[in-house]
Amino acid sequence: MSFDPKLQPRYSGIPTFMRTPYTTELSEIDIALIGVPFDGGVTNRTGTRHGPREVRNQSSLMRTVNQSTGVAPFELCRVGDIGDAVPDSPFELTGAHDSIQAFYEPVKAAGLLPISAGGDHSITLPILRAMAKDGPVALVHFDAHCDTGDNYLGSRFHHGSPFKIAVEEGLIDPKRTIQIGIRGGLTDPNQWKFSYDSGMRVILIDEFYQMGVDAVIEEIHRVVGDARTYVTFDVDGLDPVYAPGTGTPEVGGFTTFEAQKMIRSLADLDIIGADVVEVAPPFDPSGVTALVGATMMWELLCVSAVALQRRRG
Ligand code: MN
Ligand code: MN
Repeated sequence: MSFDPKLQPRYSGIPTFMRTPYTTELSEIDIALIGVPFDGGVTNRTGTRHGPREVRNQSSLMRTVNQSTGVAPFELCRVGDIGDAVPDSPFELTGAHDSIQAFYEPVKAAGLLPISAGGDHSITLPILRAMAKDGPVALVHFDAHCDTGDNYLGSRFHHGSPFKIAVEEGLIDPKRTIQIGIRGGLTDPNQWKFSYDSGMRVILIDEFYQMGVDAVIEEIHRVVGDARTYVTFDVDGLDPVYAPGTGTPEVGGFTTFEAQKMIRSLADLDIIGADVVEVAPPFDPSGVTALVGATMMWELLCVSAVALQRRRG
């Protein structure tokens, strides 16, 4: 399957991610772009169920060559939009997670590399349940929050807990997990105790700026090494001046350029999948957060295409 995005104006047509062809024929593609319009795991302001549609819209601004790295992902891999992982029961959380996982099972079986747009951060758990079933993967996690919380208001499953559950289920290796950009107040000093106790590398935003972004990039590579790696990007890791349209903003975050620099460094990792989560269009009247989400997805596509091509020799 080939496509030429230069054939029609970018404001026209039915929006798919980055104007790639929509397809349900998994054998036609190498990288699957997927929307997960679900926010049943949100603890405060909802709205990320509208994320995929707005990210698709803003992603029409993406082009075909990464000017900074020279990577042209559509020349390296066949890329398609395979639609939305719509839960069968969107108002019932564990059932919704089950149907999100079911959407990814054939993606995994076909050997595709998925790059997803959420949705709240709870969606990464069912994605990992499908993609990491053959053993724990390393995790590069950009976020203001560790998301390794426990039972909250009677539920273990919410957008503040996916990575605790992912460790308990053997989906991620905590010693090969790095969490970057962590900040904000806590409701309990031990809120992210699980991250530290399990051996995750937690980089608070304070340490991020003491180290500098180049040293953070080195630290990502030291922690992850050559392990199969999933990358998850919560837009609230960015400072809310760059990404105001999100449910749980925390001031004092990293910049869009720092995020791009970090993602661009990941091309030599063995990436098996990635996502961008927590874009909430109801709080994003200018569309800038959806544009930022689409741009981070594009950066993730570029490094994933390089990683996939290297893995295939
Ligand atoms: Mn998160
Ligand atoms: Mn967060």
